[in-house]
Amino acid sequence: MHVVEELSPLLIRSRQGDYPVEFRASIDELVLRLLEVPEAVVVCDSNIAELYASELAPLFADRPTRLVLANEEAKSLTGVGELVQWLIDQAAVRSTTVIAIGGGCIQDLVSFTAHIYFRGIRWLFIPTTVLSQADSCIGAKSGINVLPYKNQLGAMHSPREVLISTEFLGTLPDIEVASGYGEIVKLSVTSSKHFLGDLQAALAEGGLRNPHLLALTRASLAAKQEIIEADEYESDLRRVLNYGHTFGHALEALGGHQIPHGLGVLWGIDIINRLGVQWGLTDPQTTEDLAEMISANFDYELPISPSVEDLLGMVGRDKKVSEGRIHFAVLRQPGEFIIEPRAIDAELGEQVSIALNESRVFTRA
Ligand code: NAD
Repeated sequence: MHVVEELSPLLIRSRQGDYPVEFRASIDELVLRLLEVPEAVVVCDSNIAELYASELAPLFADRPTRLVLANEEAKSLTGVGELVQWLIDQAAVRSTTVIAIGGGCIQDLVSFTAHIYFRGIRWLFIPTTVLSQADSCIGAKSGINVLPYKNQLGAMHSPREVLISTEFLGTLPDIEVASGYGEIVKLSVTSSKHFLGDLQAALAEGGLRNPHLLALTRASLAAKQEIIEADEYESDLRRVLNYGHTFGHALEALGGHQIPHGLGVLWGIDIINRLGVQWGLTDPQTTEDLAEMISANFDYELPISPSVEDLLGMVGRDKKVSEGRIHFAVLRQPGEFIIEPRAIDAELGEQVSIALNESRVFTRA
């Protein structure tokens, strides 16, 4: 077991200003830090506000606070407009800092709004889900829905600081924990700081809520940090972060977005690995190791069985398609990726059909 239990802060370098990611044992400690932030207002997930009412009470008593129901409607133009109006009502000025407390929905809402308010005000993030702690809290991206189109609008706006406490995860539903692991599994093989062995050991020791989750979170962020610092504005290198996402997104869309994002990614990882093996690119043993880890730890029944035609139809609409070719992020072995452009044609259809038949990571309805 080699999980590195190192929890020193990370400093993320960004063109918009470097920012630290710090780890705090308890929510009480975190609140003490937040009370030091001058001219702050708070936007908090309403579920979190209720579940952690006593811990967050000193903050809510001290700072103007807006509670938001965290769902896909919240991160829409209507949600942004309402938050802008609230900021105006609070007399927010250029020196105001918005403290966001919640998962990826609250992050997207606050970072986008902070980006456009007075052409950019500071925001600070307290992520409360596995997904937002281990992945989305760094990288500066935001996505706003123009429903039914997800993340149609976006902006890059780095937070000033990210503060993480896994104490929040005690109340996070199991399915949300599992979904967050989709990105951890992806990041465990994505950069030179790969940690697949540590991840396997931690899962074997204690399942998804294992005692090393905070260390895995830090390892995930360090892996993502390496990529986003080299390529903050998504050219070739950052494309590796789409590993598992092309087929994952297609599955999510075909399932009417009922399939949790991270579980779609895990399925997509297995499909692209199986294509990569057929293309002579992906190491077959790594493919089997990852598939075994996913099926052993993620007990999920796929609600749909997508056909090759439906899948490729959806893949063809991916924003990464250009000139009829899709750029797949293909794993060779942990830490080594290749961006592989492939035409969406009959040959690809046959290969996807083989991958679908082989894939056993989830049971099927
Ligand atoms: P979320 O914010 O959608 O929250 C999911 C549910 O969990 C909500 O009901 C919320 O109230 C609840 N919840 C949150 N924390 C909790 C806790 N500690 N205890 C109990 N309940 C809790 O969850 P998410 O998965 O973090 O975010 C998904 C969103 O993030 C999507 O809209 C996605 O598009 C976006 N996203 C953004 C980025 C980015 O880089 N900006 C990256 C990935 C995903």
